[in-house]
Amino acid sequence: MSTSESSPALPVVLDAQRLATLHRHLLAWFEQYGRDLPWRRTRDPYRILVSELMLQQTQVERVRPKYEAFLQQFPTLEALAQASPGEVIRAWSGLGYNRRALHLQRAARAVLEQYGGRFPDTPAALERLPGIGPYTAGAVACFAFERDVAFMDTNIRRVLTRLFAGPAALADREVLRIAAAVLPAGQGWAWNQALIELGALVCTAARPRCQGCPVRSACHAYAVWRASDAQVFDAPPPTRPARAIAERRAPFETTQRYFRGRVVELLRGLPPGAWMSLAELGPQVKRDWREVDRAWLQQLLEGLAQDGLIELDRETGRARLP
Ligand code: SF4
Repeated sequence: MSTSESSPALPVVLDAQRLATLHRHLLAWFEQYGRDLPWRRTRDPYRILVSELMLQQTQVERVRPKYEAFLQQFPTLEALAQASPGEVIRAWSGLGYNRRALHLQRAARAVLEQYGGRFPDTPAALERLPGIGPYTAGAVACFAFERDVAFMDTNIRRVLTRLFAGPAALADREVLRIAAAVLPAGQGWAWNQALIELGALVCTAARPRCQGCPVRSACHAYAVWRASDAQVFDAPPPTRPARAIAERRAPFETTQRYFRGRVVELLRGLPPGAWMSLAELGPQVKRDWREVDRAWLQQLLEGLAQDGLIELDRETGRARLP
């Protein structure tokens, strides 16, 4: 993921009239149909950062209650920075990808230590915070500080690719150049929110609802699908990457990610500061646990400890949240 504040030449042909129509239709649609989400009602960079990290890999409806609960527990940057990592990992329960909780806390601590608690407002400075990638930096600069920043997540990438290049895939660099070139000046906040919303509600990966789409008259993919096969353009075949298809073949319960999450979940169930032995953990982590799996479990725990998600007492063979 990347961001850009420049306006390089377009990699695709686009006339000004079509672009003006697109801006008008998409912004009007967003104003009418955009969801009223709590992180859209604030410009507080701390709250925006919390929402952005939660929304990576997690559905909006699952994030919504977690976002409110997390902010009740850690209402300020200071409250989050002062908590123990274990408390933050506990509060992250139900969201998965627990490393995001630690990234969030490290970023909060860095804002306090390096910027006296005032968030930097440029993508470049935000990206220098620990755990903040180009997408999150762009999103915070745009959604908290209303800067006209072009960036992309999976929704923005898919919508811009279909709008300007058709059904074919584009390199991230190309999509980013389009994102920068078509960003309407002074409306970066609404424009990026609208692109994300269109990708989430209408221009979905597997089944874009072109017939009800507010920008189909300006969409290249729609024109191509309509011209090539009327049967296809309502529901073109999904363009899932080969890697995702391969990952889907392995049951989730056999993946490292599952076992790592299981360990953290079990340790979350303990009172703060309490340990669990490897002998207790093993059978609860792996259904067909056998004593020969001990080396495997040890290695799994080493990885979690290295990531800062657990504390490991190697002498006594115990683990707990940090
Ligand atoms: S017309 Fe179809 S492909 Fe184009 S932006 Fe709308 S939903 Fe996506």
